[in-house]
Amino acid sequence: SLTIGIVGLPNVGKSTMFNALTKNDVLAANYPFATIEPNVGVVGVPDPRLDKLAELFGSARKLPATVDFVDIAGIVKGASEGEGLGNKFLANIRESDAICQVIRAFKDENVVHVDGKISPKSDIETINTELILADLQTIEKVLPRLVKESRIQKDKQAQVKAVEEAKAILEEGRTLFSAGIVQGSERAALLHDLHLLTTKPFLYVFNVDEDELTDEDFKAEQRSLVAPAEAIFLNAKLEADLAELDDEEALELLQSVGQTEPGLATLAHVGFNTLGLQTYLTAGPKESRAWTIKKGATAPEAAGVIHTDFQKGFIKAEVISFDDLVETGSVADARSAGKARMEGKDYVMRDGDVVEFRFNV
Ligand code: GDP
Repeated sequence: SLTIGIVGLPNVGKSTMFNALTKNDVLAANYPFATIEPNVGVVGVPDPRLDKLAELFGSARKLPATVDFVDIAGIVKGASEGEGLGNKFLANIRESDAICQVIRAFKDENVVHVDGKISPKSDIETINTELILADLQTIEKVLPRLVKESRIQKDKQAQVKAVEEAKAILEEGRTLFSAGIVQGSERAALLHDLHLLTTKPFLYVFNVDEDELTDEDFKAEQRSLVAPAEAIFLNAKLEADLAELDDEEALELLQSVGQTEPGLATLAHVGFNTLGLQTYLTAGPKESRAWTIKKGATAPEAAGVIHTDFQKGFIKAEVISFDDLVETGSVADARSAGKARMEGKDYVMRDGDVVEFRFNV
């Protein structure tokens, strides 16, 4: 499955946040035989639609979609020089599908900042600089060979052009993601073989003081630092406290700081989106479940997530939108109201589709 690597300078609250994340680990609860690695947190993506489906179908359990977060320790200035920790750090990032930077905004005299001052802007620059330098090194290694090859293999010229363009962006101190060279784009495809770090989607978690959670001016300012990447604002210590409470107590604590859901729930949602994922739903007496697919997946591809045989033998998908199902109250009533659609193999799945697949075995 796809993973999000958590990075950040020392003492910004990564461990505090990661520990709170693993308290919400859904693997342990739902998949008792899964191996759980110490630096991986499998986090459920909260989905109130599952509660509603479980109610309608009398489901014995609810299984949300999940996002995997990996705690990548050890960014330091000079990581891109690739010595010791630096090498391991870069290898770990290379294996991640998205990069989540934790940025310190909270003020606390008892917690030392590595650079001596609280400055989200310069922290972001410090981390991005290491990633940018690592990409420039990669490019400098392969470019001369590519240029040589392109003199004979004319089809390599587009690639050379893309690599030179990427080099120019990086030399301006910008990540390729912020310049719009994102995975899935044509330009990124030309760079694919280089496994560059900064084409990965980025998201930013600002670990803020509690009063900043509701400070819209402050948040707008931080958002502008990281756009087009998403910004999430949370207080890691508060998240750690929330993870220890039952639902009712947690809601009370959240309301006392002007919030409606835990920051980690927002992080799970945003992370899931950043990875280019979406869900569809199935429901029955055994379970109500959100299944993970890539955005743009077709009905047979979606069926394949449940079982490869479902994809191979795919005939049709009976699709009811979640809203229609809730409004009519049951599959039978949705059918008689003409709200159940039979979709074929070219159907592109939509968020909120409740599905039953028909297939040959
Ligand atoms: P890491 O090095 O990035 O993993 O940071 P830690 O999670 O170990 O946190 C470093 C220190 O900052 C610890 O003493 C935490 O208790 C403290 N800390 C973490 N988050 C917050 C926060 O939101 N507010 C305050 N005041 N302290 C925090």
